[in-house]
Amino acid sequence: MSEPERRPAATVSPGAVPVPDADSLPFWEAAAEGKLSLQRCSACDRLRFPPSPVCSHCGSWDATWDEVDGRGRVYSWVVVHHAVTPALRDDVPYAVALVELAPGVRIPGRLTGVAHDEIRDGLPVTVVFHPVDGPWPVVGFVPAGDDDGAPA
Ligand code: ZN
Repeated sequence: MSEPERRPAATVSPGAVPVPDADSLPFWEAAAEGKLSLQRCSACDRLRFPPSPVCSHCGSWDATWDEVDGRGRVYSWVVVHHAVTPALRDDVPYAVALVELAPGVRIPGRLTGVAHDEIRDGLPVTVVFHPVDGPWPVVGFVPAGDDDGAPA
């Protein structure tokens, strides 16, 4: 068993800093307050991510924003070994996970706090927000520390 990777914050290049648009601004405003908020379709009640003006399930243009607890399970992941920009040179290797928050609702984020060879399908994780330059944090995940409570 190797030492878990622990980083106090994600290092991101200027090009990787979030840039909200009209659809995603409420997501980033919530993230800036340390909350994870997702769109919920007002017609079919499904959560969705990424933010979009129209529900891909039923075509409704009506949605609300719901704060969720940020707990989920690793659905898939990659370990990045090649820095795609010089600003990420000190971060490699780093893991990026696709986390399932609810059935069919998946969100990508940097996965820290776990050794890369211990990442597994279904690993319970919880959201974290890494501060970076500018108003919007980078969304990431860390192990939740237990198998209870996270959605299947
Ligand atoms: Zn819908």
